Amino acid sequence: MSEHDKIRELLALAAAGALTSAEEKQVTEHVRSCIACSNELGAWRPIASELRRLPTPQPSSWLVQATLARAEAKLAEQAEHDWNRRVMIVVLAFAWLLTIVTWPVFHVVSGRFGSLLEPLFSHTCISFAAFTALGWLLGGVAAVMLAVCQRGERRLA
Ligand SMILES: [Zn+2]
Repeated sequence: MSEHDKIRELLALAAAGALTSAEEKQVTEHVRSCIACSNELGAWRPIASELRRLPTPQPSSWLVQATLARAEAKLAEQAEHDWNRRVMIVVLAFAWLLTIVTWPVFHVVSGRFGSLLEPLFSHTCISFAAFTALGWLLGGVAAVMLAVCQRGERRLA
């Protein structure tokens, strides 16, 4: 592509003032020595100035406000959703950990005092179910407390 062709492609943009300073310098230098480009640039100039005089459509302020509010609500909702999911994972992990870690201890204790607590712990299955439920309940309570704490902190932040 010759210098002339390259410059010709830039003429409309040059008239609109949309070139970088380096490109503009290139165009100015070429136009000085090229009648064809000089004429074409001259033809573009009134068109560009007419275009510039056209009013730029402006979005109404309430639309901008509504869109911003909706975007913010969406972001907050997303953050809340992520947070809830993280809390659920922690609850599950904590409850399982609690159950697994403390069940052997409970089993030893109930085995040692089994004779004393015979009516209460004779059915291992029932006591295991009850103990698991307790573990999950504690996990749930811990998670709810954690969530309430964190939510309060986030509201302050
Ligand atoms: Zn030229």
